[in-house]
Amino acid sequence: MSEKDCIFCRIVRGEIPCARVYEDDAVLAFLDLGPVRPGHTLLVPKAHCATLLELPGDFGPALIAGLKKVGRAVMAATGATGFHVLQNNFSSAGQSVFHAHWHIIPREDGDGLNLWPQGAYPDSASMQETAAAIAAQL
Ligand code: 5GP
Ligand code: ZN
Repeated sequence: MSEKDCIFCRIVRGEIPCARVYEDDAVLAFLDLGPVRPGHTLLVPKAHCATLLELPGDFGPALIAGLKKVGRAVMAATGATGFHVLQNNFSSAGQSVFHAHWHIIPREDGDGLNLWPQGAYPDSASMQETAAAIAAQL
């Protein structure tokens, strides 16, 4: 997908409308069209990159600053008492728009959402093996 056709690049350029909540030199934040909960906001780098893996290494401070600012505002505006920051990379992980973005999703006690269905390793050896396999790639 080229920057010309990328839907989030088009939103950044103002070619497609959005419900904008925040903007600075590095990031734009706007409401997700299909919210998990009301106030669900997307934060995107203004410069196109498809996934986290393509994000410039020095983008961290701008990203964290934007997430903190928008996360705080989403909580305050919705009355939420918590929020998720979620990011999907590649289609297997549910990424549908290939311009890296962070979901900020407000949460309240007892809201019934379960985004974190946990499992378990069969034993500690297999857990250590998995850690070693990942470490070997680094
Ligand atoms: P992903 O599945 O890639 O992590 O998330 C993409 C998100 O973008 C989805 O939650 C979807 O609802 C949202 N989305 C897709 N197209 C548009 C759009 O044109 N405008 C807005 N505001 N959100 C969009
Ligand atoms: Zn883009």
